Amino acid sequence: MIIAVDGPTASGKGTIAKRLAAHFGLPHLDTGLLYRAVGRQVALNGGDPNDADDALAACDFDDALLGDDILRSEETGGLASRVSVHPAVRDALYERQRAFALQPGGAVLDGRDIGTVIVPEAQVKLFVTASVGERARRRWQEMIDKRIGDEESLPRSVIEQDIARRDARDIGRADAPLRPASDALVIDTTSFDREQAFETVLEAVRERSGQQ
Ligand code: C5P
Repeated sequence: MIIAVDGPTASGKGTIAKRLAAHFGLPHLDTGLLYRAVGRQVALNGGDPNDADDALAACDFDDALLGDDILRSEETGGLASRVSVHPAVRDALYERQRAFALQPGGAVLDGRDIGTVIVPEAQVKLFVTASVGERARRRWQEMIDKRIGDEESLPRSVIEQDIARRDARDIGRADAPLRPASDALVIDTTSFDREQAFETVLEAVRERSGQQ
C-alpha cells in the first residue's frame, strides 16, 4: 500500500503521515526534508537559492545533513521553498522519492506533489489542510513549547505572513505546484485537535484501502 499525504506547510501532514506509517507498519519519508537539505546546502555553499545552478549543485548534499536539527528551522524552510521552484532540483530528487515509494510492501510519503507527480498511482491520496490562521497558531504554539521564542519576540502575525508567503510560492510555481490530486481526499483539520485529525484520516484510509 502506498499512501501519499500532501498539503501546505504546518497543516499537520507530517505528524499524520508518521502515525499512519506506524499504524500500518510502513516506512515513512518526509520529502520536505530533502528540499530542506538542498536549501541548507545552498547556504553552506554560499550560493543563491534563487539561482537554478546553485540550487542544482546543492542537490549533491551528504545524507548526514538530513539528521541536522537546523533543517527544521523556519529559515531553512524558507530556503527549501525557494530551491523547490527549480525544475532541475525537482528532477534531481525525483528518483529517490519514487524508489522509496515503490519499495516492496509499500510506503507513506508526505510532501506537496506526492499524489500528483511522484506516485500518481498511489492507492490512497490525502490532501491535509487547515486555514492559514490555524496553521500559524499551531506553528507558533510549537515554537513557544520548544522555547524557540516567546510571545514578544515571535508575534503570531509574522508567522502567519511567512506561512502565507510560503503557500503562495508553493501554489504559484509552474512545476509541480501544490494542489490536491483529482482523486485525493481533502481533509480540513482547522477545527480538529491532533487526535481528531488522525482518527478522521485513519478512518478514510481504512475505507479506501480495505486495510485495518
Ligand atoms: O514540508 P516542508 O515544510 O518541510 O517543506 C519545505 C518546502 O519544501 C516547502 O515549502 C516546499 O516548497 C518544498 N517541498 C516541495 N515538494 C515536496 C516537499 C516539500 O516543493 N514534496
